[in-house]
Amino acid sequence: MPEHVVIIGSGPAGFSAAIYAARASLKPLLFEGTATPEMIPLGQLAFTTEVENYAGFPAGNVRAFVESAVDQDRHWNLPPAAEHERDGQPHYAVQGVELMELMKQQALNFGTRVVGEDIAEVDFSGKPLKVITAGGETVESHTVIVATGARANYLGLPSEENFKNRGVSACAVCDGALPRFRDQPLVVVGGGDSAVEEATYLAKFASTVHLVHRRDQLRASQIMQERAMEDPKIDIVWNHTVDEVLGSDADGVTAVRLKSTVDDSSRELPAGGMFLAIGHTPNTDFLKGQLEMNEEGYIQWSQAFRTATSVDGVFAAGDVADDYYRQAITSSGTGCMAALDAERWLAANGL
Ligand code: NAP
Repeated sequence: MPEHVVIIGSGPAGFSAAIYAARASLKPLLFEGTATPEMIPLGQLAFTTEVENYAGFPAGNVRAFVESAVDQDRHWNLPPAAEHERDGQPHYAVQGVELMELMKQQALNFGTRVVGEDIAEVDFSGKPLKVITAGGETVESHTVIVATGARANYLGLPSEENFKNRGVSACAVCDGALPRFRDQPLVVVGGGDSAVEEATYLAKFASTVHLVHRRDQLRASQIMQERAMEDPKIDIVWNHTVDEVLGSDADGVTAVRLKSTVDDSSRELPAGGMFLAIGHTPNTDFLKGQLEMNEEGYIQWSQAFRTATSVDGVFAAGDVADDYYRQAITSSGTGCMAALDAERWLAANGL
């Protein structure tokens, strides 16, 4: 028997869709994915520390709530409670992993089945729809909700590739606390909210953080810009890009070569690490040729404010279909919409 709803992806969109589908007695089957160098289960929020803008989660004693709500056997995945401090004072803004574990728990509580596998390909050419796991198993379903999110971009330099995991990272929150980065000058590339967030986070460990931006104005929101400007450990390097990562096999990254975007000059900047925060690419490689996408690979909704895609019965939610808002809360919103759309599609088709 085909499934009613298969959900691919385990970020806010996937789990919000699962909560709604499970409460509609559709017994959703959710593929959570496995950890890869670019993505981990629970999506990009699992790469984040404090989440201060998800409605309903003001700072408070969130930790006690998280520990009471999330099954004991997943407490190992929660960040250390010590991270709930700011300037030495208790500060219980919910952490990204905690928020995701709460969403996962809520989905499990209503009967979602979560599978820790990747979907390698899909066959949407007929009915029922087919999704094929990395292990080669084919699962049939009447509807599919794609919620696979997006992953971090890199500059594409050979030297950057060479130093990945030896000083080059696209996730300050995952790697920033490593001993190799402590008390070192570090470079963050980018000018958006992510770049400022990463720079602010790294400033806790680094001697200095050079925020290298290719223009003379940040893209980040006003409040984040102010945070960067006010932090004495953050130095903004305007109008430059990194054109080579320098270092050695023994020491990893030791410097970057900066190139001006306004003249022909270049210079070296000593750095023990380089963190990329230059945007994202949607995780749609496994869907090529099966769904309509835009030039950058984001799935296109076939109608505004509806999550239906170019294939009947396939819905898309979260960052995989959103190159504009890309917030946890908007992903949750579209996840809910996709579940409601799938439920209505099933009812309309007598399933
Ligand atoms: P983004 O807003 O697209 O910013 C990407 C930055 O990288 C831009 O400053 C861009 O420069 C720069 N860039 C892109 N390609 C580059 C290249 N090849 N070389 C050098 N620089 C390059 O991405 P984001 O910062 O990841 O943010 C994505 C979304 O998530 C936004 O909606 C943001 O508000 C949200 N977000 C929110 C928070 C928060 O509220 N706490 C935290 C993180 C992210 P240009 O400016 O010149 O284009």
